[in-house]
Amino acid sequence: MNVYDSERMTDALAPHGYETTTELESADLVLLNTCHIREKASEKVFSELGRLNEIREARRANGQEMMIGVTGCVAQAEGEEIIRRAPDVDLVVGPQAYHRLPDLIAKATTRTRGLGAREAAAAATRSGLVDTDFPGAEKFEHLPLPRREATIARGLTAFLTVQEGCDKFCSFCVVPYTRGAEVSRPVEQVLREARGLVDAGVREITLLGQNVNAYHGHDAKGAVVGLGGLLHRLAEIDGLARLRYTTSHPTDMDDTLIAAHRDIAKLMPYLHLPVQSGSDAILKAMNRRHTIADYLKVIERVKAARPDMAMSGDFIVGFPGETDADFEQTLQIVREVGYASAYTFKYSIRPGTPGAGMDNQVPEALKTERLLRLQDLVTTQMRAFGAACVGRTLDVLLERKGRFPGQLGGRSPYLQAVHLEAPESLIGTVQPVEIVAAGNNSIQGKIVTDLESKSASLNVSIVAVA
Ligand code: SAH
Ligand code: SF4
Repeated sequence: MNVYDSERMTDALAPHGYETTTELESADLVLLNTCHIREKASEKVFSELGRLNEIREARRANGQEMMIGVTGCVAQAEGEEIIRRAPDVDLVVGPQAYHRLPDLIAKATTRTRGLGAREAAAAATRSGLVDTDFPGAEKFEHLPLPRREATIARGLTAFLTVQEGCDKFCSFCVVPYTRGAEVSRPVEQVLREARGLVDAGVREITLLGQNVNAYHGHDAKGAVVGLGGLLHRLAEIDGLARLRYTTSHPTDMDDTLIAAHRDIAKLMPYLHLPVQSGSDAILKAMNRRHTIADYLKVIERVKAARPDMAMSGDFIVGFPGETDADFEQTLQIVREVGYASAYTFKYSIRPGTPGAGMDNQVPEALKTERLLRLQDLVTTQMRAFGAACVGRTLDVLLERKGRFPGQLGGRSPYLQAVHLEAPESLIGTVQPVEIVAAGNNSIQGKIVTDLESKSASLNVSIVAVA
């Protein structure tokens, strides 16, 4: 979501003359878009700010200024505390206030011009350059749609936030506090943005939300539409080849959404459905509101709807009170589900969440040991999944030129990076690709060459060129 948010901030600033640069030294403005989900991500902000300040000092020696802003969930959670710890920060903007960035920057420019760093920071606090208001989904009405050039530069796949915030309050998680209550964008607004992306050449859209399958947006007639319904409407957009969504909560996998996996060919057979732990006792302590049996039942139903479905997940090890037996159950659920990929984390205490106050915290060394064991298992599964793809023909969206001449790079339905030899004219098309080898991080394939598929592929590319 931070990738999406950063792009939207860039879009908001483009009409004001800003363009992105990959060289920090040449930046007039640096926005550090931050994540608060785990302590490590949060702490990184302050070390980055130290580094940025050195670059700013070097620029000042050459008579140039650099404005530094902190955005994202650390900005939301820490607010003015950031300016107290890092007095050189010019502005602090929470995730719901991005549409106000141009104003805030203009304000910061006039307030800080001619002032020393410390005075500027004091002026920033005084003049309200810390904007962490929660005005709901208002920002989406004010953020401009991405410009065509920007969308093209970002490639053929795009993120699109449809839902923000969360009402679930899992006891480990800071999201409900930093991103606020659940808000869904109206259906028409989502469709407009999606059409704009497709007009600019996007072929695959991933719908985003902290709890994306809790989506319940209003359509033009005022009816409430769930994620399944939204996917149906998006699938009607000509030129859009693929749809995905992330991240989902098991209790929000409703019948319409599950049926959408059966009925919408554009919806990729790959589902990120975090379970966090394999132990019912820990799930209860985490306030996850479902059991392992419920989770397995959801997977069974999704696979019945779409038999080629592959699963992905998130796991937390070392939640307070997690015993060896609880952890063994986590290993067990991983073995049982057989994930195509999974993200594994050590439990990180987040101030203000119920988990932080629990007195049965797991020692750090034990968390590390469990994480390594879980990662081993997950890596083995991921490799096995890649290896099992060898010999299969998968539809690959060809996205870009590869590293070597004559090579293209793309993505399988399961988000695997695929490399193959193919002409550049096929970029932007979906091709049947026979997988011939699987490495650790990518798979290799060749375009299916039997006469029938070849003529079908050529047709597709001609349509794309036209
Ligand atoms: N809404 C999604 C998760 C969004 S947060 C869900 O309910 O599954 C993304 C992931 O970050 C979570 O799935 C969880 O695995 C991890 N995470 C969140 N808080 C954490 C914490 N305090 N410590 C470690 N990992 C955490
Ligand atoms: Fe956090 Fe997901 Fe739980 Fe919401 S459902 S509180 S985002 S882990």
